[in-house]
Amino acid sequence: MTQLSNLQQTGEQTKAVHAGEYPDPATKASAPNIVMSTTYVVDADTTFSVEGLEENDQWIYTRWGNPTIHQLEEKLAALEGAETAVAFASGMSAISSLLLHLLKAGDHAVVSDVAYAALSEITNEMIPALKIGITKVDTSDPEAVRAALRTNTRLVYIETPCNPLLRLTDIAETARIAHSAGAGLVVDSTFATPVATKPLLLGADFVVHSLTKYLGGHGDALGGVVLGKKADLIPLRKKTAIRLGGTLSPFNAWLIMRGIATFPIRMHVHQENALKVATYLEQHPKVKRVIYPGLPSHPQYELAKRQMRNFSGILTFRTDDGPRVAHVLAERLQIIHYAVSLGHHRSLVFYLHSQDLLRTSFRFATAGQLASWNTFAGDGIFRLSIGLEDADDLIADLEQALG
Ligand SMILES: *Cc1c(COP(=O)(O)O)cnc(C)c1O
Repeated sequence: MTQLSNLQQTGEQTKAVHAGEYPDPATKASAPNIVMSTTYVVDADTTFSVEGLEENDQWIYTRWGNPTIHQLEEKLAALEGAETAVAFASGMSAISSLLLHLLKAGDHAVVSDVAYAALSEITNEMIPALKIGITKVDTSDPEAVRAALRTNTRLVYIETPCNPLLRLTDIAETARIAHSAGAGLVVDSTFATPVATKPLLLGADFVVHSLTKYLGGHGDALGGVVLGKKADLIPLRKKTAIRLGGTLSPFNAWLIMRGIATFPIRMHVHQENALKVATYLEQHPKVKRVIYPGLPSHPQYELAKRQMRNFSGILTFRTDDGPRVAHVLAERLQIIHYAVSLGHHRSLVFYLHSQDLLRTSFRFATAGQLASWNTFAGDGIFRLSIGLEDADDLIADLEQALG
């Protein structure tokens, strides 16, 4: 057999199966190997610093690069329409390495006021302690982003849909605003996934994903990735990723690659199931509000339709006395696990208490920011990640538990 010559022109599901993979030249094994070796036998004139490392060099040491991790990176780049990818041990390792690579003392960044909690927390304290200015704004409001830009703004960081609110940000417009000030745009696209949205094609400079979520898809491997242009990511790998050392395990790379084989198919089922469950919850007498980008009741439904080709599988809902209902659900649910995380084949639900999150993670400077939080979350929300079980069974499980 010969190598696939037109991978770029193939469909999403073909890329998910074949990109980055090829039969092993030595054994002709059809499935990828797992190369667990940390070191490689090298030529005697090999240099001992990553400074001299070139893109297609021999393998030297797994923190610098590994054949299995490389296969995963090629698959991810193909799915995202990116020139290249750098994989990390977790989503947070990808995000923290990217921020430490791009920002130095005296720089400034505009960051979404609601985003993944650990990113919010490092940009509240650890990053400002390095004398890097951070301004948190509601990035769903383009004027707020524009107003926050300064002459030393190096980047704008958004998440769409954002965790946990499912509030959206217009990527193309935010890219134009960031670029007009000479800043780059980073998009955490974990919730949307490349099936829904390809931020690089809308003008973003960097995309990050937690591979722990939809891309891996099975709740058994942590991982993360940064995608973008070679001119940006080759230095990111050399100067920061290799030295900080948040290297993905080759075993996890292999598991995630195996998960990706079914990723586009899974996203269609996640969306179909989530729409059915969201529609059921929206008419439930004990449910006060459902937020799902695929429902016409989402406050930004028009943007969702324009920017997302798939509405993904996460929804939120609100009830009276959320903390009490959380106990009821944790006790009574039989299929849906009461657990954090999302994007797995298993359905997961978790209660997020607004008071707690506003104390630990999210800091608002304006009344408008708090008002937006209240519109989406009120006192607190159940974040429900719809899995691949039969939708009727998920609805029956919620029905028997909610009563
Ligand atoms: C989970 C998540 C992360 C962090 O990923 P880890 O793999 O847990 O480190 C980052 N961003 C979003 C939107 C997430 O949901």
